[in-house]
Amino acid sequence: MADAMTETDRFTKEREGMVEFQIRSRGIRDERVLAAMRKIPRHLFVPKGLERAAYEDRPLPIGEGQTISQPYIVAVMTENLELQPESRVLEIGAGSGYQAAILAELAGSVVSIERLDSLAGRARGNLARAGITSVRIVIGDGTEGYPPGAPYDAIIITAASPSIPQPLIDQLAEGGRLIAPIGPKDCQDLVKLVKRDGRVETTSLGGVCFVPLIGEFGWSGEDL
Ligand code: SAM
Repeated sequence: MADAMTETDRFTKEREGMVEFQIRSRGIRDERVLAAMRKIPRHLFVPKGLERAAYEDRPLPIGEGQTISQPYIVAVMTENLELQPESRVLEIGAGSGYQAAILAELAGSVVSIERLDSLAGRARGNLARAGITSVRIVIGDGTEGYPPGAPYDAIIITAASPSIPQPLIDQLAEGGRLIAPIGPKDCQDLVKLVKRDGRVETTSLGGVCFVPLIGEFGWSGEDL
């Protein structure tokens, strides 16, 4: 008997399982974040041949030694950005474009910076295949931020930095939130920074392991 379930149905079912058993069950409560992760087809953001692994509870390689983050970590970072429909968001490290797609579901505008041309091109292609036209991918050193779009209500750094790059703190709006993995090259502390009255308050969200942020205010390529 022919399998009545199409591949698209299978991916939809896997995505629902991902949201329930990897994300909601670990404490993510924001229904908008859960809905965005249920909607965005993550399998369109992984390299050919890895689609069947797209909904597994782990990061996956996307080429150039880089990764698409584990779904749960994407959810934690997104929830902590506290996005509103009018929020202006800056992402550093476009990678596959998946995190940017989730942000675009929840915010008013998204700029995502990627230092590697090849990945920026792939992120643009993946976003187009997923039908997302509202993300602007910029090629450059994201540690310097993107002044033309500043100030931002939310900034997310999806690569690990020894400290929070000062230009990004400067480009954060009053009341804005910044989430970043900060610490040594192998594993780091996921930090949430909130800017209030021109001062910054930081809290720790727990341990994570990200690839390095390479640039003027991050790691130098020679450190690696
Ligand atoms: N957010 C991505 C996604 O959804 O697939 C995953 C990002 S991956 C963990 C980290 C990315 O940061 C890589 O694509 C890497 O090339 C990029 N990167 C590292 N340093 C950067 C910098 N200074 N500016 C912009 N991108 C940077």
